[in-house]
Amino acid sequence: MDKKLAKMIRDVPDFPKEGIVFKDITTLLKEANGLRSSVDLLNEYFKDLKIDLIAGIESRGFIFGTPLAYNLGVGFIPIRKPGKLPAETFSQEYALEYGTDRIEMHKDAVREGQSVLIVDDLLATGGTAEAAAKLIENCGGKVAGFGFIIELTFLNGINKLKGYNVKSLIKY
Ligand code: AMP
Repeated sequence: MDKKLAKMIRDVPDFPKEGIVFKDITTLLKEANGLRSSVDLLNEYFKDLKIDLIAGIESRGFIFGTPLAYNLGVGFIPIRKPGKLPAETFSQEYALEYGTDRIEMHKDAVREGQSVLIVDDLLATGGTAEAAAKLIENCGGKVAGFGFIIELTFLNGINKLKGYNVKSLIKY
């Protein structure tokens, strides 16, 4: 648990709806060392793994995923909300508290056997992360692990990611 980073996160109660405490990373990003320390810590953790690609989940996963890809010297692929990617996509549905949502990835983003590290800002119920892993595995890719800045441990998202290498910098 990184206490310095934890202090940079702002809690916004009742956003986007009543009862949810939103973990706002914009306060971390505007600190001179917020982004750098976050990326350096993930880099340190994953640098010895064999990774071919970083997959960032829209949109905050892009902010942390791209500098990590740059540092590790690997490619970056975006996993996006529906209708955003221009070429042919695979789509994966996942459950929300009420209803469902989807994420998409280009069909040619991952080649058979490639090792992919998935990055997002926050692990809550794990539905989004699990869907991202399915997209990669359906293309024949291997999930090397998951990197998060924040994990809301009381939502047990980690149970959906059993058997994977998961690193979260800040745990609540
Ligand atoms: P989940 O699929 O439940 O693990 O939700 C993870 C996704 O929803 C991530 O992309 C987060 O950015 C976002 N998210 C969920 N809960 C929160 C929260 N309390 N604060 C900020 N972002 C959240």
